[in-house]
Amino acid sequence: MQQFQQYIDGAFSDGTSWFDSLDPATGAVWAQMPEAGEDGVNQAVDAAERAFFSPEWAGMTATARGKLLLRLADLIAENAPRLAELETRDTGKIIRETSAQIAYVAEYYRYYAGLADKIEGAHLPVDKPDMEVWLRREPIGVVAAVVPWNSQLFLSAVKIGPALAAGCTVVLKASEEGPAPMLEFARIFDQAGFPKGVLNVITGGPVAGATLTSHPKVVHVAFTGGPETARHIVRNSAENLASTSLELGGKSPFIVFEDADIESAVNAQISGIFAATGQSCVSGSRLVVQASIKDAFLKRLKEKAEAIVIGAPDDMATEVGPLCTERQRQTAQHLIKRSLQQGAKLITGGEALEREGFYFPPTILDCSDARDAECLSNEFFGPVLSVTSFDTEDEAIAIANDTAFGLASGLFTQNLTRAHRMIRAIRAGIVWVNTYRAVSPIAPFGGHGLSGHGREGGLQAALDYTKIKTVWLRTSDDPIPDPFVMR
Ligand code: NAD
Repeated sequence: MQQFQQYIDGAFSDGTSWFDSLDPATGAVWAQMPEAGEDGVNQAVDAAERAFFSPEWAGMTATARGKLLLRLADLIAENAPRLAELETRDTGKIIRETSAQIAYVAEYYRYYAGLADKIEGAHLPVDKPDMEVWLRREPIGVVAAVVPWNSQLFLSAVKIGPALAAGCTVVLKASEEGPAPMLEFARIFDQAGFPKGVLNVITGGPVAGATLTSHPKVVHVAFTGGPETARHIVRNSAENLASTSLELGGKSPFIVFEDADIESAVNAQISGIFAATGQSCVSGSRLVVQASIKDAFLKRLKEKAEAIVIGAPDDMATEVGPLCTERQRQTAQHLIKRSLQQGAKLITGGEALEREGFYFPPTILDCSDARDAECLSNEFFGPVLSVTSFDTEDEAIAIANDTAFGLASGLFTQNLTRAHRMIRAIRAGIVWVNTYRAVSPIAPFGGHGLSGHGREGGLQAALDYTKIKTVWLRTSDDPIPDPFVMR
């Protein structure tokens, strides 16, 4: 049985105990993972703090930090097939997706490598004579990064990249569901030549997560996961008044007007909901389609959904693989059952597949006559699309915004003025117009409401890992007069 190790202070070690990792394609144990335990978490944070103040890291030029990040990017690109294979094995994410995504993860590190020596301070023309006042941008300190199982290499890159570019140090807690790719990533990171302790990679569940995010030496928690866990994280971080950035779930509307390029919209909707087997925070999980084209659109969607190749995640021909855990599968099944009781109509799918592994088929529920069905408001994090319809533009906006989340949205229309009106009206952190799921290291990513706060990606994300120090320097050689002598 393969055993993985954690990475603390530049060394690989076993945890305080082992836990089993399951292969989602079979449900069988395939590897053992190190549980960090409280001791492991404390060691990792201590190492990150030592590294933060060490001359090797704190004294390194920003340009040199950038070069190390570039080297890391090259190593990720070289090792992408191995990382992809491990992510597929441990989380069930299909190899087609992991291969493409991990190659692109290298670009995120390249982007932040380039930014490292472009994080600038400022000079202020203050209203006092003989004074120089300027702002230094300094790294904030030890960052705790906590990620869920899906796309861990990607979700950690948008935290580690900007944090290291800014000069911070990081303790990353990989998800207890499928941590293998992150623990292997630590081996690749180790070859890049960073000083020890700059990045520490541990794993474990809520206990390790809570210990890390409430640790007094942690100044910022960068979290991706569900809203319920986020509430714990905010409570934990409140102990030390640590700041947080929260990338949480979504129930993103995918709005299609009758004037849209229908075939493009169908294809974008299919990948918008069924890519990553629906385990994606930006899933376009609520189709909001104009009533005049609803039947034709659903017919096409159903045909396409039923033609999707479901299979082993390590097979390049597979288009939808298993869910990561049995729990996810049961959640999907349960929520579908309740929604059907609440009046939703099943268009396709709906029942877990009877085969080994955690497979669930692409599912479509028509809720046009069941606006209160839970499937319209609750996140599945699985391959389930819920459909509603509208007649007018105002109605489309009202349905799109009828959610506690606010992460992504899709809009398909050929009408330019309508597109602009809709962009203004939609309450979400991302609006994709006549496209869906496009991401780039250069473009900020994040939401509001139950989808969290803060942005990952782009220049601002690196600035968010810095704090401002205001410096006042008196330029006059005249002695400062005694303040207590009356003049
Ligand atoms: P989760 O919230 O259960 O777990 C996420 C991480 O938090 C895991 O590493 C877990 O061990 C850790 N954790 C659990 N309890 C903790 C605690 N008390 N203190 C600290 N850490 C704790 O999320 P999940 O179920 O693994 O992932 C699915 C969720 O993630 C979905 O809601 C999804 O939408 C969201 N997600 C969001 C994005 C985004 O960028 N917005 C991306 C991917 C996933």
